[in-house]
Amino acid sequence: SHNCEPLKELVRTVPDFPKPGILFYDITTLLRDKAGFAQLIDAFAAYYIGKEVDLVLGIEARGFIFGPALAYRLNAGFVPVRKPNKLPAKAARVTYDLEYGTDSLEIHLDAIQPGQRVVIVDDLLATGGTMQATVQLVRQLGGEIAGLGFAVELDFLKGRDKFQEYDVLSLLHYD
Ligand code: 5GP
Repeated sequence: SHNCEPLKELVRTVPDFPKPGILFYDITTLLRDKAGFAQLIDAFAAYYIGKEVDLVLGIEARGFIFGPALAYRLNAGFVPVRKPNKLPAKAARVTYDLEYGTDSLEIHLDAIQPGQRVVIVDDLLATGGTMQATVQLVRQLGGEIAGLGFAVELDFLKGRDKFQEYDVLSLLHYD
């Protein structure tokens, strides 16, 4: 299908962000490029079109940036997966481990009807902890996971190994 590798030139790497020793992959430089942004959404859409996707779920915050553009292209709905205490109606919560401490994500209880086909998107796959937590939420609500989509995958962290039973698409790879 689409060859996205040239888009890697539009991803900026920032050393020592958010902490010393961390190399951060910054996609804002890709998003601001009109051709790059279009190619990114086109590549996602080409992959998921025809897979009967009912909903695109975006993980706060960077999954909110291109999730809705993809949902529009797939003629699907968009559902935000949010940090704790942001959603106004009744929500399910999952808490997951970080390197230091824990974090939580929430989804409205009525956001997914049982059996609806869902694609979950985020900007970047690192260890996979964030996506794994979101998968748990979708399963709790009875959604069917049609795919997990990332703009960027850090292959060397092997986050993909957590999702062997799922269809994982990453457009850009770093190792
Ligand atoms: P994981 O849970 O897979 O270890 O980390 C992925 C989550 O952290 C994603 O929500 C992603 O937005 C964020 N993240 C971690 N490292 C980076 C990075 O280098 N660049 C960007 N853009 N996001 C990152």
